[in-house]
Amino acid sequence: MDFGLTAEQSAYAATVAEFAARELNDAIAERDRDSAFSAEAWRKCARLGLTGLPLPVEHGGGGADAVTTAAALEALGHGCRDNGLIFSLGAHLWAGAVPIARFGTDAQRRRYLPAACDGSLVIAHAATEPDAGSDPAQLTTTATPVEGGFRLDGGKTFVTNAPVAGLFLVLATTNRVRRHAGLCAFLVERDTRGLTVGPPTDKMGLRTSPMADLHLDGCHVPTDAVLGPPGAGMAIFNATMRRERGFILAPAVGTMRRHLDQCVAYARGRRQHGRAIGDFQAVAHRIVDMRLRLDTARTLLYRFAWLLDEKRDTDSDAALLKLHLSECLVQSASDAVHLHGGSGYTTALGLERELRDALGGRVYSGTTEIQKNIAARLLGLGVGT
Ligand SMILES: Cc1cc2nc3c(=O)[nH]c(=O)nc-3n(C[C@H](O)[C@H](O)[C@H](O)COP(=O)(O)OP(=O)(O)OC[C@H]3O[C@@H](n4cnc5c(N)ncnc54)[C@H](O)[C@@H]3O)c2cc1C
Repeated sequence: MDFGLTAEQSAYAATVAEFAARELNDAIAERDRDSAFSAEAWRKCARLGLTGLPLPVEHGGGGADAVTTAAALEALGHGCRDNGLIFSLGAHLWAGAVPIARFGTDAQRRRYLPAACDGSLVIAHAATEPDAGSDPAQLTTTATPVEGGFRLDGGKTFVTNAPVAGLFLVLATTNRVRRHAGLCAFLVERDTRGLTVGPPTDKMGLRTSPMADLHLDGCHVPTDAVLGPPGAGMAIFNATMRRERGFILAPAVGTMRRHLDQCVAYARGRRQHGRAIGDFQAVAHRIVDMRLRLDTARTLLYRFAWLLDEKRDTDSDAALLKLHLSECLVQSASDAVHLHGGSGYTTALGLERELRDALGGRVYSGTTEIQKNIAARLLGLGVGT
């Protein structure tokens, strides 16, 4: 395994980090307070190619391989403190555009991917329901075959990007008795009659990433809105989640590097009891633990990306990576708050926002417990789901 970046990959990552630090951090505290998504920052990301980074070149994407993608996302996380914007970008890519690129028909790819790549189309993924989160087989949104297509009825919740999305990838069941085998994925355009987006959801973190519920009430979609072959909904959902698990927290490696740099600088400069606080072993050890978590998380990320580029199996690695990265990010943000004492606890430094943002990572794309269940099952252990 060679995790060394080429000169070209390093140069691209440096460009992304410099762009992110310069262009994406304006008024972040105010936007966090107001739960404001920045369409302007989104457009800037699109102009740099980030909204289509791993998507096929023939549809306007960057065609980046997995290692290049990981490096660019790490750089984005390092430069950009708007974690909500980064999360929206990840949801758009990994749960929206990439599944269309992988499982869509030529017509679906041509219809949606160029706009997804140039940023004019934001995509949302609607799987979770009030009574079906960790267990998608329980979902109750129905897809009833009708003349020329399907009628969708039901409700979705916690849909990232819903307030600004032009396209929804909706998971519904054509046959509840068949549970997983009855699931089907649909591409539903925002102006489809019967589709309503609820008011924005207020949440503790990632507040600049807009979220809402969806209501589907006699929502008619044509047959060619089905993503993938009939009955393949669960397989598509699983494949989508696997890829998302691998990449959704890639920027967190850069975020943790930023936390570490900030803590080292503070521990060198802040003096108590006549010494820099970094001279106290307890403080220095906390920082060393931050460094160790960063290094292990980074190694897992690049190993996952390398395996993907080598077309090797990544099922277990994706689950372990998501699990480890999300937990490391929470601990890193918590350490950063603690190390800055009272200042860390105030809103002035933005570290409490980093902690609020980090906590979501344990929940979205499958909770920590679900990642452990997946990894256990792949070890041949019969963990109940
Ligand atoms: C910031 C954020 C963004 C999101 N974006 C989207 C989105 O764009 N689209 C979308 O469809 N959904 C989205 N979600 C929803 C997310 O995928 C679900 O919240 C998540 O899958 C958990 O489902 P739940 O909330 O119903 O919790 P539940 O499944 O009810 O779980 C509650 C608790 O029980 C535990 N638990 C459940 N089952 C098991 C088990 N078998 N073994 C052990 N423990 C278990 C869980 O780990 C959790 O701690 C988002 C969530 C967040 C926080």
